[in-house]
Amino acid sequence: AKGQGKGRQVGYDPVMDQRTADLARLAADLRIALDTDQLYLHYQPIVSMPGGELFGVEALVRWTHPERGPVGPAVFIPAAERTGLIVPLGAWILEEACEQAVRWCDELGEGAPRTVTVNVSARQLREAGFAADVDAVLRRTGLAPHVLTVEVTETAVFDGGTALEELRAIAALGVKIALDDFGTGHSSLGLLRTCPADILKVDKSFVDDIVTGGHEAVVAAALIRICDGMNLRAVAEGVETADQAAELYRLGYRYAQGYYYARPMPPEAIATYRPAAAKQ
Ligand code: C2E
Ligand code: CA
Ligand code: CA
Ligand code: CA
Repeated sequence: AKGQGKGRQVGYDPVMDQRTADLARLAADLRIALDTDQLYLHYQPIVSMPGGELFGVEALVRWTHPERGPVGPAVFIPAAERTGLIVPLGAWILEEACEQAVRWCDELGEGAPRTVTVNVSARQLREAGFAADVDAVLRRTGLAPHVLTVEVTETAVFDGGTALEELRAIAALGVKIALDDFGTGHSSLGLLRTCPADILKVDKSFVDDIVTGGHEAVVAAALIRICDGMNLRAVAEGVETADQAAELYRLGYRYAQGYYYARPMPPEAIATYRPAAAKQ
C-alpha cells in the first residue's frame, strides 16, 4: 500500500518524503524504531553456481512500523542518510550482523555462511574513525575479520574526504570489501585501480536483459573477464530466472544472488537453506 499517492495516511511516500515535514516525521519514527526493537535483519543467500549452494549472505535491514506495517529500506535508508541517522542505525546493523555471524559459526561450523556482507552507506564511510569502529565491533563480537564483507557503492567511495582511507584501513583488518551495484556509477573502472576491492556485485540492470542479448549481456561478459583478470570475485545480482542463471554461468559467473535462488530470510532460515533440487 506504500507509494500509492495518498502518502501521508497510507505510508511514507518515497517521493513525498523529500518534503521536510514528511522527512522529519520519518526520521523521528526511525529514531524511535531504533530504540524499541522495530528493526531487524533479514539475510539473502549468495550462492555458488550452478548448484545454488550457500556461499555467503547479505544482511538487509527490515522495519515493521507499529501502525504503518513494513517500510522498505529503499524508503527509509535514504531518509536516514539525509538526516544522519544512518550513523547510529548503521552501527546497530553492523553489530547485529556480526553477532549473528558468530552464532552461525558456532552453531553450523562448516555449514556457516563463509561471508556475511553488511551494506555501508557513504555517510558512514565518511565518518572519521569508521574503520576503528569496525575493528571494535570485531573485537567485541569475536568475529574473525575474514568472515565480514563490507559492501559499499562506488559513489560512496568517490564521495571524497577520507572514504578511501577508511576503506583501506578496513581492508587492512582482513575484512573483505565488495563494490555494490557495480557498473551503474560514473567511474567504475577507474575505481578498480585505487580501491581495495575483493568482490564486485554486478548490478541487476546488467542481469535483467542478459538473455535477450542486448548491450547488458556485453557488459556482463566484459565484467566477468575483468574480474577474472584482476582476481576479483564477481557476484551477479538480482538473478530471477533459470535462463539468466544459465547464461551467467556460460559467461563464466560462479556466484549469484537473486530471487531465483532465494529471497532475503530470517537468520534461523539460513541454517536450513538448501538449493532447490532443480538447481543441483
Ligand atoms: P542492495 O544493497 O542493492 O540490495 C539488494 C536489493 O535487491 C534488496 O532489496 C534485495 O531484497 C533485492 N533483491 C535481491 N534479489 C532480487 C531479485 O532477484 N529481484 C529483485 N527485484 N530484487 C532483488 P531491499 O532489501 O529492499 O534493499 C534495497 C536497498 O536498500 C539495498 O539495495 C540497499 O541499497 C539498501 N539497504 C538495505 N539494507 C541496508 C542496510 O542494512 N544498510 C544500508 N546502508 N543500506 C541497506
Ligand atoms: Ca548491497
Ligand atoms: Ca546491489
Ligand atoms: Ca541497489
